[in-house]
Order: sequence, then C-alpha cells, then structure tokens
Amino acid sequence: MILIDGKKLAAELREELRLEVEELKAKYNKVPGLTVILIGDMAPSQIYVRNKEKSANEVGLKSEVIKYPEEVEEKTVLEKIEELNKNESVSGILVQLPLPKHIDKQKVIETIIPSKDVDGFHPMNVGNLSSGYESSVPCTPLGCYLMIKKIEPNLSGKKAIMVGRSNLNGKPMAQLLLKENCTVTITHSKTKDLKAECLEADIIVAAVGIPELVKADWVKKDAIVIDVGINKTEKGIVGDVAFDEVSKVAKALTPVPGGVGPMTIACLLKNTIDCFKRSQN
Ligand code: NAD
Repeated sequence: MILIDGKKLAAELREELRLEVEELKAKYNKVPGLTVILIGDMAPSQIYVRNKEKSANEVGLKSEVIKYPEEVEEKTVLEKIEELNKNESVSGILVQLPLPKHIDKQKVIETIIPSKDVDGFHPMNVGNLSSGYESSVPCTPLGCYLMIKKIEPNLSGKKAIMVGRSNLNGKPMAQLLLKENCTVTITHSKTKDLKAECLEADIIVAAVGIPELVKADWVKKDAIVIDVGINKTEKGIVGDVAFDEVSKVAKALTPVPGGVGPMTIACLLKNTIDCFKRSQN
C-alpha cells in the first residue's frame, strides 16, 4: 500500500512555488500578495490562518492578515473587500470561514472579485470550473486532485466516487475528476446503499465528517482512497476512512492527519500565484 504523504508532497509543492515566486519577482519586480480576513477568535480559524500566513511567507509571498472582532459590522467587512479588490498589490483575498451569524456568507463570497478569489467559492469560479474553463479551484479538492494524479497520472475511464456533496469538497472534486474523463458518482446522506456504490469505485474521496465511515469491505482492491475528514474523537483526530483496515485493501491511502490538510494550504499558495500570473497577462 502506498501511504500518500501529504506533508512531503506539500513541502515539494511549496518548494516549486518558492522558485516560481523568485522567477516572478525577477520578471515583474513584485511578488504575489495574499490577504486573509479573520473575524472573531475561534481557535481553529486562528490556527488555520497562522499556518496559512507562515506558509505564504515561506514561499516568498507578501502576506497580510486583517483581523476584526466577532461583532464587526457586515458593511465594514464588505467595504474592506471592495478596497482590497482595487488594491494592485493584493493578488488573492480569503475570508476565513465560518463567519459570525450576523454576516451573510454568500454576500461576502460574492463581493470578492472572482480574479482574486483564491478559495474558488465565487459563483463565477464555480461556473467556470463546471464549464471546464480556467478558474480558481477550491484548495482542498485541488490538493486531493494533485495527490491522485501523483499516484495515477492517467485517470481516463476510472470510476470515481465522492462521498459527500459539499460545495467545498464533493462538488468541485467531482468536476476536477470529470475533466480527467473519470466516470463520477456523487453520494450524500440520502444515498441508498453507499457501500455498494463505493465498492464500484477505483477512486474514493471521502469528505463527510463522520469518523471512520468508510470501511475495508466498502473498498475495491487496489482503489485509491483520499480521506478529507477531520474528526475529533476520544482516540484523537481521525478521518472519514477506517485507516488501519482500509490500508489492507487500498492501493494508496492518505493518512489523517498529514494527508489532505497540508496540501490544502500549499494549494492556497498555488492559487494566489496563479491569480497573480493571470492578472499580469
Ligand atoms: P459538510 O458538512 O459541508 O458536508 C458533508 C457532506 O457529507 C454532505 O454533502 C452530506 O450530504 C454528506 N453526508 C453526511 N452524512 C452522510 C452519510 N452518512 N453518508 C454519505 N454522505 C453523508 O462537510 P465538508 O465541509 O465537506 O467537510 C467534510 C469533512 O472534511 C469534515 O470532517 C471537515 O472537517 C473536513 N475538511 C477537511 C479539510 C482539509 O483540509 N483536510 C478541508 C475541509 C473540510
């Protein structure tokens, strides 16, 4: 079984990006800039943002975090986004989710100009992705896609199953794999016989949020299994895949932690650099 080492792959990707930033700096005399807006003091969001900032600095991006208290008015945030949209030194804007209840998530997402939407959540980017056009792709599925391609460069004709249909994971992941000519099935909480669906698949991407949902007897021999889930349990952080048993049947599997997570952040840096490059053309 191949253990897909997300930490190692992310470090390799960051190194490639660092070299790319050096080249861009030599060519344009400026570097891509990432601005993250963080609202409130939720511990996980603080950690995510700190990691994003650290990684951005590591590859040589200009990075900035704008912090607001939990009770900030929606109008203040939207005005700041408008200002960042116009700021030429900002290549990518990310508003860390989740947001406080009084702030309309959709409004925030739609205020970010699509060309700086490094999360790929703007409906314009969602539409471009599903039409097969160039777009920012949400960071987590992009990271999963890059890992799958490392294991199997030719995905044409493979059967792929998404367990979970969120806008963040399942749906964009399905689009990426469709583009690679996979035959894609998207499943969700109302799917009848999920086990039977999974057993058909050459590639399983689990993004559900249920600890160890995907069992060994759901997995076809030699399938590639990508575990997006992050679940806090009594035995620590586990994924949506029963790692020990599935590792005995799968051809390749991501660990949790150390699989999808590190690649997600590296892909955010990639998206920022890609936004910068598109803005120079
Ligand atoms: P979500 O809650 O938005 O969506 C979950 C999906 O799972 C829904 O489509 C739902 O229909 C489906 N579902 C629920 N119960 C099901 C069942 N019994 N069978 C099949 N499908 C079922 O979740 P999300 O934002 O996509 O996140 C999923 C998991 O991935 C969470 O554990 C989250 O913490 C993790 N996550 C990890 C990363 C990372 O970087 N590693 C990034 C984002 C999310």
